[in-house]
Amino acid sequence: MAAYLFFILAPLFLLLTGTLPPARAFWTEFSAAIGYAGLAIMGLQFGLTARFRHVTEPWGEDVIYHFHRRISLIAVGLVVAHPIILFVIRPELLALLDSIEAPWRARFAALSTYSLIALVVMGLWRTKLKLSYEAWHVTHVVLAVVAVIAGLLHMLGWSFYLVDPWKRGLWIGLTVFWVGLLGYVRVVRPWFILRRPYRVAEVRPERGHTWTLVMEPDGHAGFRFRPGQFGWLTVRGSPFKITAHPFSFSSSAAAPGGRVEMSIRELGDFTNQIGQVPVGRRVYIDGPYGAFTTGNPADMHVLIAGGVGITPMMSILRTLADEGDRRPVILLYGSKDWEAITFREELEALTARLDLTVVHVLEHPPAGWTGERGFITADVLRRHLPPGHADHEYFICGPNVMMDAIERALGTLGVPIWKYHSERYSFV
Ligand SMILES: Cc1cc2nc3c(=O)[nH]c(=O)nc-3n(C[C@H](O)[C@H](O)[C@H](O)COP(=O)(O)OP(=O)(O)OC[C@H]3O[C@@H](n4cnc5c(N)ncnc54)[C@H](O)[C@@H]3O)c2cc1C
Repeated sequence: MAAYLFFILAPLFLLLTGTLPPARAFWTEFSAAIGYAGLAIMGLQFGLTARFRHVTEPWGEDVIYHFHRRISLIAVGLVVAHPIILFVIRPELLALLDSIEAPWRARFAALSTYSLIALVVMGLWRTKLKLSYEAWHVTHVVLAVVAVIAGLLHMLGWSFYLVDPWKRGLWIGLTVFWVGLLGYVRVVRPWFILRRPYRVAEVRPERGHTWTLVMEPDGHAGFRFRPGQFGWLTVRGSPFKITAHPFSFSSSAAAPGGRVEMSIRELGDFTNQIGQVPVGRRVYIDGPYGAFTTGNPADMHVLIAGGVGITPMMSILRTLADEGDRRPVILLYGSKDWEAITFREELEALTARLDLTVVHVLEHPPAGWTGERGFITADVLRRHLPPGHADHEYFICGPNVMMDAIERALGTLGVPIWKYHSERYSFV
């Protein structure tokens, strides 16, 4: 947080060194300050989403994206408040809204602000606006670049605080750095990924409309991942296209030869076609990412999965089994019905290799079912978890509503927040 605040505030406070323009009324200065701070926050968003492992690892990608969304609202609030304050204290400035008569510096300000508002509206209501993920993603990137560059041009055009050439250089340099981060994710990283392709070795059907892609490194050693992590998969085209989809690794992290598996449920345009991917197809994986991975071996591990949220749990269980780990593990696994339980047979087999208890919770149980039914609730947790709830290590992955409910339930069981790990599949 300190580093983050430093990056936001340092460029602002540096403007207060060197030659200073004549002081103006407090609200004018305040409005300028929040404009600069808003732009600095927007620029740093490129860093948050640049997939730097060291930046994201302590929290996990989903938390970083959550922060990215929340902090954007603050940044846009600051940027929008900047002209509003000026219009209130000096109503004659409203003339600057006339985009035909207004000077360029005001037009750039308008362009930047409108782009930011469009970014937020499209981000918050993407599904309501019926925008496909791909169309939204491309527009999101373009609008973000336009907003930041137009913001810089507005500042340079106004030039009130940027009279010193080094101050102009600082803000131009910062903007080049921010947009350069985007270049890193979209050009430099894909170029490295292109040189390390994978081949599809097998496409295996699983229960519950799910397919497992088995992929082997093609001409390189592959990478090592920790069980529970995920990668961005490109199946068609090159990694330069914005078409990669995130999937958890479902295979053991101890698998030989850099082989990785991803188990993919049919849910939309891309995933519905995964079963038709031909064996031998060249694919690309950008990874590994994520902080959702096994913790202290002394603690009992409680894995709570809903639907396709079982995939990272499979990687955790398969890895523990391959490593001969005997820590106690309980898997609470919510599925629609008995036939749709992905990996049902393998889970059964894993109980012989691990100190593993599997509790199935079925939404539509078959006749005569004596196990848990409905959803995983605090009562289900109480019934199956040994006492000392706060001492276990929890891993939760599944639909958002389920995860919210489980996190609340863990709260009622007195489990502190640092004892549970969540992987949200809907961070974008
Ligand atoms: C960290 C993580 C791990 C995941 N692991 C698995 C897994 O192991 N197995 C599995 O079946 N699913 C997993 N998912 C979900 C999977 O990524 C989406 O179901 C899939 O991308 C949907 O694509 P679609 O085009 O078929 O569906 P659509 O109907 O087009 O999209 C459904 C939703 O998926 C998301 N989405 C779509 N395309 C992308 C994309 N290119 N990048 C990011 N999100 C996108 C969007 O929120 C969209 O609204 C994971 C998601 C995340 C974030």
